[in-house]
Order: sequence, then C-alpha cells, then structure tokens
Amino acid sequence: MAINMRAHEAGILHAEGYGAAPQWLPFPTDVMELLPQLWPSNVARDASGVLSIAGIPVTDIARDFGTAAYVVDEDDFRSRARAFRDDFTAPFAAVAGADVYYAGKAFLCTAVARWIMEEGLNLDTCSGGELAVAQRVGFPAERVALHGNNKSVPELRQALEYGIGRIVVDSFDEIDRVARLASELGVTAPVMVRVTVGVEAHTHEFIATAHEDQKFGFSLAGGQARAAIDAIVAKGESLRLLGLHSHIGSQIFDTSGFEIAARRLVALHTEVADEHGIAMPEMDLGGGYGIAYTSEHEPLTPGQLGTQMAELVDRELKEFRDGHPQATLPRISIEPGRAIAGPSAFTLYEIGTVKDVEVSSGVRSYVSVDGGMSDNVRTALYGADYSCTLAGRRSDAEPRLVRVVGRHCESGDIVVMDEYLPGDIVPGDLIAVPGTGAYCRSLSNQYNHTPRPPVLAVRDGVARVIVRRETIEDLLALDVDEPSPSQEVR
Ligand SMILES: *Cc1c(COP(=O)(O)O)cnc(C)c1O
Repeated sequence: MAINMRAHEAGILHAEGYGAAPQWLPFPTDVMELLPQLWPSNVARDASGVLSIAGIPVTDIARDFGTAAYVVDEDDFRSRARAFRDDFTAPFAAVAGADVYYAGKAFLCTAVARWIMEEGLNLDTCSGGELAVAQRVGFPAERVALHGNNKSVPELRQALEYGIGRIVVDSFDEIDRVARLASELGVTAPVMVRVTVGVEAHTHEFIATAHEDQKFGFSLAGGQARAAIDAIVAKGESLRLLGLHSHIGSQIFDTSGFEIAARRLVALHTEVADEHGIAMPEMDLGGGYGIAYTSEHEPLTPGQLGTQMAELVDRELKEFRDGHPQATLPRISIEPGRAIAGPSAFTLYEIGTVKDVEVSSGVRSYVSVDGGMSDNVRTALYGADYSCTLAGRRSDAEPRLVRVVGRHCESGDIVVMDEYLPGDIVPGDLIAVPGTGAYCRSLSNQYNHTPRPPVLAVRDGVARVIVRRETIEDLLALDVDEPSPSQEVR
C-alpha cells in the first residue's frame, strides 16, 4: 500500500515542527465544542459531555455494539440526499432539468441503496458487486448507471440483462464489447461517453490543460472523444448515444473547474449536433463536491451549488442554443458521493493507550484507538485531514495537541494527524471522528486480520445494525484448510 509522503514527512522523517499545530488548527477556546459543519445534524452533547446521535448516547452505542463502529445519522443522510434532489436541481428547471446520481462507491450497502431509492435519487455503480446491491433492493434499472474503465463481460451482461439506464463507456475496446453483447442479447445499450476534458480540480484549485495523463476516459484534445462518438454511431441499433460525461476531481469547493469542463463538453456536443445531426439528450458533469473534514473547510450547500452550476451550464449552452433553436437541450446529471454520505457519519473509537513521545520541539501525545487504517485508510493513503472530539464524558482539562493513531503495523497508520483533545484523556475514553461516511467503510480492509467494524444507523432514538461487524470466523471462512501431516496419518 502506498503511504502518503506527507504523513511520513510530518511524522517520521522531520524532527523540526514536531509537536507544533498546523497553521489551520487554532488553539481551541472550548475543546468540547462541536462545529456544526463537521457533524450530522442530529448529533448533540449533553450536560455531562456525552455525545448523542438522534437521541442515543454514544456510551450506549459503545456498550451495545462495541467499538470501533461507524455510526450513521439516517435522517441526516436522507436530508442531504433530498437537498441534492430538490435544492440542487430546482435552478435547472429553467435550463433543461437535472438528475442526481448518488455515487455508490462512496458507501453502499442494501440499506443505503434503499434510502437512495426511497428519496428519489438515481444510483451510480462501478462494479458488478455494486450493481448486485442495486438489484438486491429492486432499484429501478433505468435509474442506475454503470461506470468503470475495465468492466468485465459478465458485468456488462449483468447490466444489460438488468435493463440498466446508462453505461458510461471508457474505451474503444468497450464500445465493441458492449455493442457485441447488446446485439447478442437483442437489446439496445444506452451509453454515455466518458470524456477526459483536461480539467483536474481539488479543493480550492483546478488546473486546466489540453492533455491529461490518466486512465479514465477518451481524450478530448487528442480527438479520441470524437472518434468514440463516431464509433458508437456506427454501431447502429445496438448502441444508443445518450451524451457526454466528465468527472473532474473530488473534494472541490469551487465551481469554476466545472465551468471549463462544461464549456469543453458543450463544444463537442455542438460538433456532434452539427456533424451527425444528433442532439444528445443528456450531459453528466460528475461528482466531487467537497465536505468539511476540519474547521478549515466551508462547503457550499446543495442549493448554492445548484444555483452556481445551473448558471454556468446556462452560460455555456448559450451559443449552442442560439445556433440550434430547434434542438432539445441536454438534461444535466451530477454524481455526488462524498457530499451525501460523508458528513452523515462518524466513527466511534475507544482509546487504548496514551503515549507521550519526546521530540526536539517538545512532546507529542500519541493516542491509540481500536481501529485505524483498516477502517479509515484515507489519512495513510493521501494525507487526508480529520478532526475528532472526546465523546463519552465532560472534561475541563487544558487542551493538548495529539495525534490519533490506529492499531496496525505501519507507522503511517494515522487516523487524525493533529487535533486538540482535553489533556486528561485516558485509556477507555471514547472519541468520535466526524466525516467518515464516505470512502471509509467502502475502502476498508482487514489488514492485520482485523475484523471490520459494523455500520449502525440511528434514527428517532433507535440504533440498528445495517452492516454487521465482521468476526474472526468471517475472516477465516475463505481459507481453504490444508490438513496437517499428523491429521492425515490419523
Ligand atoms: C468518484 C466518482 C464520483 C463521486 O465523487 P465524490 O467526490 O464522492 O462526489 C462521481 N462520479 C464518478 C465518475 C466518480 O468516479
């Protein structure tokens, strides 16, 4: 596993700066304060300092379900989904309308697929496994999309037999493969073309280039995207061209990168209208909307995003509209994953050890919890920032700068790089790490043969398991046992 260099540089290689807080992390005036943008809306702290979620104290959760555990505020998840469905799409009514596809790779299980279905969103999948979750809950096939740069023939067959709403094609090999399968099955496959637009956005920056060195999509600058469209059109009956797709990055707070992407997609959309006489009915601008992991992040609301996105799409479509007054405008779709699932959950851990390590500039406190890079690999993988809070009691102790680490055999196994916790934290204390609803369980692993934590959904004072805790038996279930020589003799 690639361990992020930032983690190594900050924690292991460099002695100077050790023990000092990063610039964005101010010394807290109240170390017990909950920043609202970091927590699910039904999380509160009572007078005794105990965190509760939808009326359930985390101390009860720890007692009844154990730690580590992912805890999801179901109402919060559903209302974020609804906010995208309603507030985001409303400003698009004046353009050609918009649809929201929840990106299942952020976090998917049957309960979540049901929530998404019930809230009226569509669903993005990118494997046969994610597709199987949609099928298990009877998600309407026409509202499901399939992504991926190397979908297998069985996965494509699964999607087509299901009657999937869109397959986002990613290579010439795949165009041939989907067309062959569709004619074999006697169906028409609805396809979108994943276009590499040369925009890469992350947090507060984006870079726009002509060429892009990455595995996804058909390059726009190199003419491949156009060639892919020609290839699809040439397949006739077996493929139906729905439109163009782009996805420019993740954890993005600013919509200006989307405007460049939309401009480039519209240019190709226009070319296809002019040269093939096809006004493609859809256009997908992907996901990537950022969330608050720490006090340094201030995300826009779905309503604000929708207003900005609808304005920029409207602006970029103007020339097309003027030049093709008869043509139907493409309906826009977006694919938020993190922005729906991320903020609705936190991970509850129990502290096992508190260790002060002497460093050149002072002392760093390492707080070890009963999880780590197996349940949240994002810090180790790409230096993600998180925050945390003491969750099981009140404390008036002076804040102390700590590093929260996991229990795994890697020094890069860090959960929260820098955070202030009350100075009197001891083994047995509970801490909660917010913002772990996306890309934590879905990227989880069993490193060191660690059973993965359960996912609990809490709603109206009731906590229930939606994904159960793994057991040692689960871990051993796949091992094909070879009898030892002594057993053979017997
Ligand atoms: C990952 C991904 C998404 C979701 O990204 P978020 O940052 O979670 O919103 C959407 N679309 C595609 C194609 C993706 O690869």
